[in-house]
Amino acid sequence: MTATTFLDEHARHAQPGHPERPARLEAVRDAIEADPALAALPRLDAAPAPRKALERIHFPEYLDLVEAFCESGGGDLDIDTYATPDSFEVVRQSVGNLLALVDAVMAGGADNAFALARPPGHHARPAQAMGFCLLANAAIAARHAQMEHGADRVLVIDLDVHHGNGTQECFYDDPSVLFVSSHQAEIYPGTGRLEETGAEAGEGATVNLPLPAGAGDEVAGLYRDLLPPLAARFRPNLVVLSFGADPHRLDPLAGLNMSVAGLVDTVGVIQEVADAEADGRLVVTLEGGYLPDVLAASVTAVLRRLVDPTSVIDDPFGPTSRPPIDLSPLTAAVRQRHGL
Ligand SMILES: [Zn+2]
Repeated sequence: MTATTFLDEHARHAQPGHPERPARLEAVRDAIEADPALAALPRLDAAPAPRKALERIHFPEYLDLVEAFCESGGGDLDIDTYATPDSFEVVRQSVGNLLALVDAVMAGGADNAFALARPPGHHARPAQAMGFCLLANAAIAARHAQMEHGADRVLVIDLDVHHGNGTQECFYDDPSVLFVSSHQAEIYPGTGRLEETGAEAGEGATVNLPLPAGAGDEVAGLYRDLLPPLAARFRPNLVVLSFGADPHRLDPLAGLNMSVAGLVDTVGVIQEVADAEADGRLVVTLEGGYLPDVLAASVTAVLRRLVDPTSVIDDPFGPTSRPPIDLSPLTAAVRQRHGL
């Protein structure tokens, strides 16, 4: 069984003209409601994330700062990250929903799950909001699974087109979390080079896959080559996936040139790895994706794949038009760097 949650009050986190806007999740909700099989998926009720869960990743002073900033009316926390008077409440509920899904998957009440989160989380640093993100959703979820459910090793994968710098930073010296991020090289936030592999005890537990612009659906093949051996070596108890739809060829914020089918194929590889190494335990949390129609088509296609791995993908936007780029040099470089 695949579980979801929907963030009912998310529209209170909004700023006119900003690409990270309520229309994103509204489009996803409409697309889910339009498909009876998806509309029937269980949606778990959840409490806002407890402070304790947030403090496992974020500094207390940072949480106090964001809360006070919102209470005093909100505004811009950095050049592209806003908060409204309600944003702290919204994001705590969003993370609470995600943690409820982690609880369900770890306790066996659900096979896998997809949290329809807003705002995204993978750029949020332990003490700094960044890149539309206030709380490090995926990192909080991974640590929650470790502390509350005894998940000794968590594999966190980041499929958003941007590097998950915040998630990486949270676990950079931590060997108990294997972080794998694929992202378009040399765009925001500028980190995620192949040479960033972790520090101290966490050396080797950060795997960056910096992709050339236009890589296209070859990304699925890259995952198929690299993820199974990485996961077999690490033996995760849980897989957390930061899913962004912004690798899609139509997304206005990047140029990776993937199709919906390519994105879902990649998630399929990740699901197979979760099946093989973690008894199928896979929790997906939504990151970016800034064209609401593409986001909705991508999220619903991923949900169908989570429900039924044999589902055939109906890609309303069609295949990529340009030929993909050969990623075998990157595959070889990652194999060498990480001893695969
Ligand atoms: Zn992104």
